[in-house]
Amino acid sequence: MQVRSTVPYPYEAPESQSLFERASVVTPGGVNSPVRAFRAVGGTPRFMVSGRGPYLTDADGREYVDLVCSWGPMILGHAHPDVIDAVQAAVVRGTSFGTPGLGEVELAEEIVSRVTPVEQVRLVSSGTEATMSAIRLARGFTGRAKIVKFAGCYHGHVDALLAAAGSGLATFALPDTPGVTGATAADTIVLPYNDLDAVRAAFAAHPGEIACVITEASPGNMGVVPPLPGFNGGLARLCRDNGALFISDEVMTGFRVSRAGWYGLEAAVEGWAPDLLTFGKVMGGGFPAAAFGGRADVMANLAPAGPVYQAGTLSGNPIATAAGLAQLRGCTDEVYTTVDRVADEVSGLVGAALAKEGVAHRVQRAGNMFSVFFTADEVTNYDQARRQESFRFTAFFQTMLAAGVYLPPSAFESWFVSAAHDARAIERIADALPAAARAAAEATA
Ligand SMILES: *Cc1c(COP(=O)(O)O)cnc(C)c1O
Repeated sequence: MQVRSTVPYPYEAPESQSLFERASVVTPGGVNSPVRAFRAVGGTPRFMVSGRGPYLTDADGREYVDLVCSWGPMILGHAHPDVIDAVQAAVVRGTSFGTPGLGEVELAEEIVSRVTPVEQVRLVSSGTEATMSAIRLARGFTGRAKIVKFAGCYHGHVDALLAAAGSGLATFALPDTPGVTGATAADTIVLPYNDLDAVRAAFAAHPGEIACVITEASPGNMGVVPPLPGFNGGLARLCRDNGALFISDEVMTGFRVSRAGWYGLEAAVEGWAPDLLTFGKVMGGGFPAAAFGGRADVMANLAPAGPVYQAGTLSGNPIATAAGLAQLRGCTDEVYTTVDRVADEVSGLVGAALAKEGVAHRVQRAGNMFSVFFTADEVTNYDQARRQESFRFTAFFQTMLAAGVYLPPSAFESWFVSAAHDARAIERIADALPAAARAAAEATA
């Protein structure tokens, strides 16, 4: 039974406020991952105490329709009974053995069966580890040092991948954050997204030096900016022609936008395949589980089969694999159809509400992921994304929050829906939108 809010909106959040003050004493910025802190939108981050289906309940007892879904993982909704049952069954058998176990084999088999180019997979505990390890493997396999990434693509907080600055062709990136040394970032080439000519030029400028190109399969970490037709396929071809590996980062899209992730929507249809893919988020069922995998001849270079070292004390953890397996088994064709339909409905409602108030905006879609840019122009790269009027998002966000709809607290993040977002949840979003659209229209920088 869902606890309905008894406190009228808009409201203060005294319990969250007091928890945030306590947290800020013992934790930098009061949070364990920066975007949770509401710095981009202001106000007090809500401390959530429970989730069920499409709803989250905060420490003040208020219920929100959740459009973050733990940043993607909760595709079946919160506390799905099948996932909870699998976790409860697993946990009483013990929480970690430090040996191989059945759950890891079953989860790997599920991944391999869904994504054709993944012949072998190695389980890790976070998306960051997956991309870090995939890059090490690509460097070990090719014997080359340089990597290409795209501005606005996020691959976790791997030192060499935090370089996002630098525009123009083949810019050697300066590290974007203190603590990443120039030496670590020196082998990272950052290029503008959706610009194949820039990639061609980088290969020409560095013959025989580029180990891999890594890209988000369809970026969701600068807002949703899908690849232009032919971009990913062109990357794969350029990599093949130049002896580099193509790494498709599906930590966000994997098992979310289709049974086979973005691969299933694009490469499988076009008839090509990435060399390596990385996964996380949905495949963990809300637990720390992630993976990288791909061509068997490349994966064979990984220890103990090969010389490229990679390891993890909690890799393939029995609780995490049980949760991930239960969630993936629950991700049927019907679930994807439902999530796609919910994305259609919610993104349609958002667009209509903003249009009604005359707010310049673009709702951009990639499968069932979408986000709103407060700009009149299509966004195809990071520079364009940053030109939006994000002050309008702040007003929009706060008004939705006050009405009990929890959006990502940043204009540069994807929104996520789940198969549990039913008519009642969608109605609550619809009810909240007119005032939020008005607030966006009236906002000033
Ligand atoms: C979330 C994400 C990561 C990092 O995963 P963590 O589990 O947070 O380390 C990497 N790549 C992409 C595309 C992501 O969305």
